[in-house]
Amino acid sequence: MSSVRPTSSAGDPDRLRDGVPEFPDHPTLTQIAQRQMQIDTWDAMSVDGYRFAKPGAIISFLLTAIMVVLVLTPIPPNWPWDIPLCILSIFSAVVMVVCGLLWLDRPDSGPRPELLEIVPFTRAENLQLMSGQGAEPYGAICACPGCGDECTHLVRRPTDSEPDWATVTRCCRVCNREWVQA
Ligand SMILES: [Zn+2]
Repeated sequence: MSSVRPTSSAGDPDRLRDGVPEFPDHPTLTQIAQRQMQIDTWDAMSVDGYRFAKPGAIISFLLTAIMVVLVLTPIPPNWPWDIPLCILSIFSAVVMVVCGLLWLDRPDSGPRPELLEIVPFTRAENLQLMSGQGAEPYGAICACPGCGDECTHLVRRPTDSEPDWATVTRCCRVCNREWVQA
């Protein structure tokens, strides 16, 4: 059956004819789903960042502090344990610096993409689009030219203001787009 139209905005020939009133953009279901994925990805990048960085920096800071205190003070265990503790505290300090830098580093993923929503078609907009619509044969199942929805569309007889050649007017339940078929 007919495929989902890629866009209903800038490239829409209906919209580019002279004298067409300015109608809002109508994103398709595919575009809405794609945008939702972009937003989910953006959220995951911005909120999570480096998950291990914050706990890593805090834990390694505490370990380093404890080991330095043990090495520098007469609190047991003392020599010869001071030497491996000293080496470990150096490693721990390096981990602390690395995790701290990652914690402060926020991945720059630009501004959050805006959520797309179905913008219902108005009656005036539907009439305008119908008047410029090419002949289309009736099909039991077809994609809505507004949003791409392929579920069963409401069907009714065309009114006088709709194209003469039409035998049936379909209405999309999702976006209220109406178009005619013969
Ligand atoms: Zn629709």
